[in-house]
Amino acid sequence: ERCDGGATAVAHPNIALIKYWGKRDERLFLPWTDSLSMTLDIFPTTTRVRLDAAAGQDTVTLDGVPAYGQTLRRVTAFLGLVRERAGLRQRAVVQSRNTVPTGAGLASSAGGFAALAVAAAAAYGLGLDARGLSRLARRGSGSASRSVFGGFALWHAGDAAGTDAEADLASYAEPVPTAGLDAALVVAVLDAGPKEVSSRAAMRRTVATSPLYRPWARSSGEDLAEMRAALLRGDLPAVGEIAERNALGMHATMLAARPAVRYLSPATLTVLDSVLQLRREGVAAYATMDAGPNVKVLCARADAQRVAGVVRAAAPGRAVHIAGPGPGARLTGGDR
Ligand code: ATP
Repeated sequence: ERCDGGATAVAHPNIALIKYWGKRDERLFLPWTDSLSMTLDIFPTTTRVRLDAAAGQDTVTLDGVPAYGQTLRRVTAFLGLVRERAGLRQRAVVQSRNTVPTGAGLASSAGGFAALAVAAAAAYGLGLDARGLSRLARRGSGSASRSVFGGFALWHAGDAAGTDAEADLASYAEPVPTAGLDAALVVAVLDAGPKEVSSRAAMRRTVATSPLYRPWARSSGEDLAEMRAALLRGDLPAVGEIAERNALGMHATMLAARPAVRYLSPATLTVLDSVLQLRREGVAAYATMDAGPNVKVLCARADAQRVAGVVRAAAPGRAVHIAGPGPGARLTGGDR
């Protein structure tokens, strides 16, 4: 059943502890590897989708500004997919607000497309369950498949073989069990500006040219198996160690791409040094970085204030946030 008044959804970004880096199918957003993330309880994106029978095209507003170019094309293509599934032709009015810097390697696209998927599915009456929403969100941005779920989520790459429809069905995220893991991520926003090379372009170049890509993808599978076991044990130091090596390995694949993609800045390395210093002092703190210079430090919730203090001292004048595990994407009551 469609929501004639439109639908509004909220979703949060997620930070991968086992990274998504590299698509095997760009059209269907199918990755080469499984990935695993923590959805955050900060930086929500709120997106409203309303059908407009009179409109000849979709209108998209992001943070109060009409979207254009790549963002507009991406959202319109996504809505086209939703319309095709719904068997409806009405265009939509989309209004979205990010509280996270957009396109800065802070996973704005993950929260953004998870919120859009949930709101658009409701507005067009797709009647999807959480797994179906995760598959749908994947078609907007791969990592958005994970933000449909709260806490820790695993995105299955799915079977490489089979038809398009089978491959699509096999690639979705689902919650992963953890035992008594009281984790926090300290997020250091070292540069909130948009990146020079988009994640999409960077992963494409890495897969096509980096001699380190295949070895990393192989070892990432092993990291994932170890990570799942560590999460089940509630073993924070093991979770952190695996996450840190997986992220550094991913950045190594990019550094070896031709030409190289380097997102890490001098400020990144200074924060990484402060994380090493924390470990020398006996604090279980581990770093992970995405397609940008910003650093996210995994630690126990009880240590988060201390870790944030040390990171702040290493990154003077920069914003440092503390995030815990957050909720999955959901419709908000408001205008349903
Ligand atoms: P990361 O590499 O960590 O995922 P990111 O998601 O910030 O960082 P990109 O993957 O380059 O960076 O994606 C950013 C793009 O996602 C934006 O340029 C925009 O096109 C799209 N996007 C971001 N927020 C929204 C939103 N709320 N609604 C729709 N599209 C969004």
